[in-house]
Amino acid sequence: MTDLSDYQQVLTPNYGVPSTIIVKGRGCRLYGQNGESYLDLAGGIAVSALGHCHPDVVKTLTEQANRVWHLSNVLANEPAIHLAKALVDATFADRVFFCNSGAEANEAAIKAARKATNELFGKEKYEIICFDESFHGRTIATIAAGGQPKYRKGFGPMPDGFTHIPINRGDILERAVSEKTCAILVEPIQGEGGVRPICPKLFEKIRKHCDRVNAALIVDEVQTGMGRTGKLFAYQHSCITPDILTSAKSLGCGFPIGAMLCREWISEHFVPGTHGSTYGGNPLGTAVAGKALETINQPELLSNVLSRGEQLMQGLNELNERYKLFKTIRGKGLLIGGVLKEDYEGQSGKLTKLTMQEGLMTLAAGPDVHRFAPPLIISESEIDEALTMLAQAYCHFIKQT
Ligand SMILES: *Cc1c(COP(=O)(O)O)cnc(C)c1O
Repeated sequence: MTDLSDYQQVLTPNYGVPSTIIVKGRGCRLYGQNGESYLDLAGGIAVSALGHCHPDVVKTLTEQANRVWHLSNVLANEPAIHLAKALVDATFADRVFFCNSGAEANEAAIKAARKATNELFGKEKYEIICFDESFHGRTIATIAAGGQPKYRKGFGPMPDGFTHIPINRGDILERAVSEKTCAILVEPIQGEGGVRPICPKLFEKIRKHCDRVNAALIVDEVQTGMGRTGKLFAYQHSCITPDILTSAKSLGCGFPIGAMLCREWISEHFVPGTHGSTYGGNPLGTAVAGKALETINQPELLSNVLSRGEQLMQGLNELNERYKLFKTIRGKGLLIGGVLKEDYEGQSGKLTKLTMQEGLMTLAAGPDVHRFAPPLIISESEIDEALTMLAQAYCHFIKQT
């Protein structure tokens, strides 16, 4: 049997060594090699929005697998056109570029914003304003954009033109934005950075500053998108219109796909030869994402996200009255984070290990936040079950700390 000592031998050691090997998933459950089962409130890091092996998605994937897998961007395919149309219909966007991951979607967004503003307003316009603690991926450009210096360490030199400012500080934003600014890049809720929502007033200010200096507003919805917060995309809770939006994670519900959505004034400059991807827009990925979008963007499913989110939030608040672990519990829909009190700082990883011992998959978001990003189809009884397991884990945690 393949085991974890093989993992340690042959995979690069850039991840911690997992404690188990998973062999099967169904709905909100995962099953390990030895038949042990887990309730999944991690969702493969906010990816498995329709749970595991959703029958409609499996059907779409296998049907497409028997038709055609790959064509390259030299040829057109039906699922890609269908998905792009559906994304344009459901959002502010006029056009869509397909790629294979969140980092690639952000790379495309950065390149598109620079190309458009360069051609329109001159070569001096290249600066991208980003926020402290933000996360945009692991390529060189996206770690330069990200607001977590630890991810840049040892990988220099970084590309030029990324400025970082604290989140939710309108005064600092005002001083940072200039005619050199070509884009402001922001997550509606910082996911990896600790489930930290952007304040609605700041979001409005960002839009105003972009308009003032002719910069593009890039909204990174890789984690918050595809129904996660109870709307198809989180920007739709506001009256703000982005210029560019990036999506991945739940877009393919586990099949690797990313997308950059944009307005015409941006896409106009992405002329033939300016950007590309071999796999981007392949029929397998776009067929799966098309089915995912159709299934997620339904009133019943989105209202389940809100009610299960409220149930989980309320349950966590009740547990917190008992165990007093968190100074605050924040987030929206089914992206929720408990921020550990000073006494417990740095211990989110330990919490996820303890919940796993109870049969519950959860996530950390940095060292101080216990994060939940379950499948959006999770049921009321599954949330109740999760809360019972969480009570056990929190109880053990308090005793051990
Ligand atoms: C996960 C994530 C990314 C990176 O996505 P990958 O598919 O891992 O490249 C980018 N932005 C945000 C907000 C994310 O949560």
